[in-house]
Amino acid sequence: MSEITMKQPFPVFLCGHGLKYEIECILKVFVPAVRFQFYYDDLSLFHESSRFAAVQIRQGRNHTYFYCAVSLGEKRLRLAHRAEKLCPQINKQQCEVIISKMLFRLLQELTGLDVPWGILTGIRPVRKVLPLMDAGMNREEIFNTLKNNYWISDEKLELVYHTALVQRPLLMQTPKNSIGLYVSIPFCPTRCSYCSFVSHSVEQAKKLMPDYIRLLCEELKIWGRMVRELGLMIDTVYFGGGTPTSVSAEHLEQLMQAVEANFDLSHIREYCVEAGRPDTITAEKLAVLRKYGADRISINPQTMNDDVLRTIGRRHTAEEIVECYHLARSFGFENINMDLIAGLPSDTPESFHRTLEQIIALDPDSITVHTLTLKRAANLFAEGETQLENPVREMVRDSIAMLPEKGYQPYYMYRQKNTIDNQENVGYAKPGKESYYNMLIMDETQSIFGAGCAASTKLVEPNGMITRVCNYKFPYEYIAQFDQLMEKKQQVYEIYERIRTQEAAYAEK
Ligand code: SF4
Repeated sequence: MSEITMKQPFPVFLCGHGLKYEIECILKVFVPAVRFQFYYDDLSLFHESSRFAAVQIRQGRNHTYFYCAVSLGEKRLRLAHRAEKLCPQINKQQCEVIISKMLFRLLQELTGLDVPWGILTGIRPVRKVLPLMDAGMNREEIFNTLKNNYWISDEKLELVYHTALVQRPLLMQTPKNSIGLYVSIPFCPTRCSYCSFVSHSVEQAKKLMPDYIRLLCEELKIWGRMVRELGLMIDTVYFGGGTPTSVSAEHLEQLMQAVEANFDLSHIREYCVEAGRPDTITAEKLAVLRKYGADRISINPQTMNDDVLRTIGRRHTAEEIVECYHLARSFGFENINMDLIAGLPSDTPESFHRTLEQIIALDPDSITVHTLTLKRAANLFAEGETQLENPVREMVRDSIAMLPEKGYQPYYMYRQKNTIDNQENVGYAKPGKESYYNMLIMDETQSIFGAGCAASTKLVEPNGMITRVCNYKFPYEYIAQFDQLMEKKQQVYEIYERIRTQEAAYAEK
């Protein structure tokens, strides 16, 4: 693994098919922090490469033949497999499973890595469990099915099963005709080194801020009218970012006023604001949040180690996190979440353990444990190589063992590409303090209307089809092209017509 560098792309040769996605996902698990370069039906560079992966599908008269070869420098392995006749276009899923398992075997042998999620590369593992529960399978049957299909470790099976058990009854309570509203505030005081989000420092964005807030209020007005005309009900409101509390108390009030004025909030089950970074939270802003009905806030330390905080570019201390938490409690917030990240640069298992202890001692209502992810846009990506030895597995294990013991149950989970050691992100909550928005965004069974730049609207149809309508990524684009963006929203009416037709057809059955 030592010769892998960020600069040299890793060549991947595909012959007889174009099944790039799954192959890339599996490769990323074993060969992280590397750029892959794909060559289709072109083996001209094959013999020149010391490191490569090659996957060929060849059609015989009665069978389909699969060939995989991987080389990581000195070591090179290959595998062949014969199957019944399969066409990569028509039998895509079957072909992907065969290729994934072959590649996985080769890469595991070459690297010696133990991969806890096996060949499961999707970001929503709980969705593999819920249908099995719905089909009436018991715990043992579910474990056996997932183990056979995906080669998942017992530890992760326990975790995902436990999460599904907590989540399932809560998902069943989702009101009909309801939607979530997402309000995006893509600003932060400074940029953290691991962040790939399109967040802008408030300092840089000062000039844009008044226009951004004004147009965001305008967009909320448009969404409000649509929600009324379509007869929808607001179930949850979520202010995310960036760091929503990085804007001034006046701007925060302007936005929350716009939500109150344009939507009927009488049925909402959750109003959440990511207060995010302690260096943005003030008594004045907390008063605004309370005044307009926010009932869940997230104060995100990431770590309680001051040295690690400095390393990741945070401008606050662990002590300020504690002060901020107590200040929020004094304003009457009864549902406070705290986010942590396992695997931050310079953090150690011992220091992460102390962070867990300190956070548990504060007694928040939920604790979300993320695993560090190396994304291209993050400053940290450039240090990818140094992350290969990250002791993140120990940290994640510690959280899995400690949090349920202290009364926090896992209730939602997601995975991301490029997560160190192929770990996951898990939300743990005390009973009754689970976030509906978090569960529903992962379950993809409720539509979400997104306002603001980088927000995406997700429209879920009864047949499972999902249409996304994305707003522009950057505030200046959002401001400059606001009118065109709002025109794009008209397609929401058309999609809802389709939704109504499907609902009527299902009701008739
Ligand atoms: S607070 Fe969150 S969104 Fe903002 S820079 Fe840090 S990681 Fe990125």
